[in-house]
Amino acid sequence: MTDISAEHTPMRSDDYQAQDAAHHLHPFTDTKALNAKGARIITKGEGVYIYDADGNKYLDGMAGLWCMAVGYSQQSIVDAVAAQMQELPYYNTFFQTSHPPALKLAERLAKVTPSHINHVFFTGSGSESNDTVVRIVRHYWATKGQPDKKTIISRKNAYHGSTMAGASLGGMKDMHEQGDLPIPGIVHINQPYWYAEGGDHDPESFGLARAQELEQKILALGADNVAAFIGEPVQGAGGVIIPPASYWPEIQRICHKYDILLIADEVITGFGRTGEWFASTYYGITPDIISIAKAVTSGYLPLGGVLLGERVANVLINEGGELQHGYTYSGHPASCAAALAVLDIMEQQDIPNYIKHDIGPYMQERWRALGEHPLVGEARMIGLMGALELTPDKATRAPFTVKQGTVGMLCREHCLHHGLVMRATRDTMIVSPPMVITHAEVDELIAKASQALDATYAEAEALGYL
Ligand SMILES: *Cc1c(COP(=O)(O)O)cnc(C)c1O
Repeated sequence: MTDISAEHTPMRSDDYQAQDAAHHLHPFTDTKALNAKGARIITKGEGVYIYDADGNKYLDGMAGLWCMAVGYSQQSIVDAVAAQMQELPYYNTFFQTSHPPALKLAERLAKVTPSHINHVFFTGSGSESNDTVVRIVRHYWATKGQPDKKTIISRKNAYHGSTMAGASLGGMKDMHEQGDLPIPGIVHINQPYWYAEGGDHDPESFGLARAQELEQKILALGADNVAAFIGEPVQGAGGVIIPPASYWPEIQRICHKYDILLIADEVITGFGRTGEWFASTYYGITPDIISIAKAVTSGYLPLGGVLLGERVANVLINEGGELQHGYTYSGHPASCAAALAVLDIMEQQDIPNYIKHDIGPYMQERWRALGEHPLVGEARMIGLMGALELTPDKATRAPFTVKQGTVGMLCREHCLHHGLVMRATRDTMIVSPPMVITHAEVDELIAKASQALDATYAEAEALGYL
């Protein structure tokens, strides 16, 4: 008789970790260090929770990687994708061809986007969206007879993805160092990060000064050489950096004055995260182009897009000729079906309003109260995305003397130990839970974060970091 018990014993983390270490190279990971420790193996998701292979349950305070907006157990998305897979699992949108999921999603997006935006170019991810943006803005100006108007201005500590153009637009020094980036024609100005860089300035005058760096850079380069400015309305991966209210209106004014396209990378902030369908609406700006991905499918399948305002779309369509750009999976039918099902949920549950008027204000108040903790220099939140700045000295907002990121990593481990996924960027803890999180789940998240802060404080003190 064959012993079949092995097949029926559920695999545990240990069983998977060796396999993972043997064959798998992880993104943004020191694989050697990871392999010495073993990866966390996640095997199940339910609502706002994930489970590892050993049965441990975590409240997913990061919504996967910012994308899991509607929660892990939405059967309607699974059904919509399955039905689409059966009908037409794949077809492309090249060669004068279209298919119902892509055209329906394009129409649907035009309805939820700001009124001057009525066209979309589909991609497979946020990075591909931003690569597309670089191609499109340069093609736009060349079509208008200004081929030299091609430099794109971005910001230090921005995150715009990991492809060559995405990482170049991004302002992450560590990423630039690998692969000889940025590519030519992309330059960076300082970010509106008051907590870390504002010194004695008040936030509003600091925000204005940081926006005016755009004007200085345009004047230095010559407006005839500058195609566009790109920014995340709220920097996500950089540490949920919420700009002072003075910042975006000034950026808009400068772009307008010098005839520079304004690009909002709303890969994180889009689809309700700030309490509006798009954060551009929150800040009262009208970008010419918006990059999207992540929450549009809630991560159920990969999909990104570039939303084009009338100004750019009209030139591209009426004068641009053949667009020499596209992806095999542009408008993938199953991904579009997933996005349509996600939008159904968002509209039925009125997610932007839930965040603006209900769960957002509730969580913000509880989150900001964490700012009273002795280890926290600032607790900020907009909509449902927030950050905690860890510091040994609340009054001066001083960094730790131990290597940057050390205490953040301790805190991340304590969060996991208490059943909460929170991310550490440097010594900044960031949170961006599923948008469908309930009041009771917010209470649980705050309680766990608070316990993790206490544990981090005790450990940091014992190690002499305070
Ligand atoms: C995640 C992210 C991207 C990149 O998206 P991918 O799907 O990982 O390629 C781009 N921009 C912003 C603002 C992001 O947060």
